[in-house]
Amino acid sequence: MLAGMWTLFLACTGPGDSSARNDTGVGDTGTEPDASWHCPQDTPSVTPGSETDWLVTTAHYSLEVDGPESLAMELGLLSEGAWLAYGDWFGTEPAQIPLRAGFYADLTGFQAAMVRDGASPASSAGYYDWGSATAYTQDQPTHYYDHVLFLHELAHQWHHLAAQPDGNQATWYSEGLAEVLSRHDWDGECLRVARLPVISQEDFSAEALRIVDANGNDVDTWLSQDIWPGERPIWFAVTRWLMALDPEAFEDFRLAYDADSSVTVSSYFGTLDGDAFEAWLRGEQEPLTPVWIEWTHRNSDSVRGFAEYSSVARVKVPGDNFSTTLRVPNERFMAGLLLGWDSAQEHTVLYVDESGGLTLGETLGGSLTFWDAGAISAPSDSLPMSLSWDQGQPVVELGGDQVRPVLQHAPGAGLAIYGADVVFDEMAW
Ligand SMILES: [Zn+2]
Repeated sequence: MLAGMWTLFLACTGPGDSSARNDTGVGDTGTEPDASWHCPQDTPSVTPGSETDWLVTTAHYSLEVDGPESLAMELGLLSEGAWLAYGDWFGTEPAQIPLRAGFYADLTGFQAAMVRDGASPASSAGYYDWGSATAYTQDQPTHYYDHVLFLHELAHQWHHLAAQPDGNQATWYSEGLAEVLSRHDWDGECLRVARLPVISQEDFSAEALRIVDANGNDVDTWLSQDIWPGERPIWFAVTRWLMALDPEAFEDFRLAYDADSSVTVSSYFGTLDGDAFEAWLRGEQEPLTPVWIEWTHRNSDSVRGFAEYSSVARVKVPGDNFSTTLRVPNERFMAGLLLGWDSAQEHTVLYVDESGGLTLGETLGGSLTFWDAGAISAPSDSLPMSLSWDQGQPVVELGGDQVRPVLQHAPGAGLAIYGADVVFDEMAW
């Protein structure tokens, strides 16, 4: 008997203790159940490779990685997290280990690995080859999408080897499943999958909504006739919706459909209500949007921001308050809040730096000017920050200090960094 699709079992002990993580559901982005964190306990072995920079050996995976050693280690940990998470989700495990995967710096390395393994070289960003049972990915513009693509191909691999579909399943289903299972929370130690990010460059939920607005919401016809406007974001959104609509029915459908590709969705879900899908999709949107890369989703209330210069993570629909806690790094940084927003060319931010110096960053006509805005005591460990409003003007609390900058733009909310690599936790909006 297979375990339930959303079966919760605690895979976390010791340093990866899940109790330190957000399991409360507070601030959760999507409607999916609060799945367990999966925390691998063993440290991957990373050794120099001959054809790629690194060979990574974990309990269940053998990886080739082209890139920094830290990335090789991270992908090793992520793959072991995926082993636990996908085992929990599918309720079965592949019989053959180690599972093989590769991360390559560019298309040339990606295709060379496939040719070496006897596969036809794909020109996509990632590829899972059924013949060699190997997952291949290449470097992406953001850290989050590096991980999404890697987990996407590992999900195809798991689906193939552990669930054993006959290969005749519709593309929306195989790809929708891999897209959903690739969206994840990851804090460097623990993973949970099938999570809607709070922010991403790709923002499939927003893209799916744009496609619905342009094409209508006739999801029943799309499924029954295999007509898919806009394809991938819609595959992702409809698969998430079916899982949220009735997780048990989706699992029953999945098991039946993997065994027999003539099985139909309607025999498990009846006629699908496009208006219900559209209403659900409007409520399933990523709350923040990046203004320049790069922002890495970590958890339903946590992101990492990295920028050599300026970057902003904007709350799409600001409320009356925005708050977060800055994890103060042991290096120089400027990080703070977005206060005012008219456009990427016209907005205002307030930064704090490692010495407690405050700087107002005013972007006018696309050029950023810094203004001295006073100082607070030098922050250490963590700095709570919040933004509220008094007669249209921002009231910013930084630890125990209050600052009231004068705003030239419409009220906004969100995160701002300049030349920093920092984590913001406990976001609420
Ligand atoms: Zn795929």
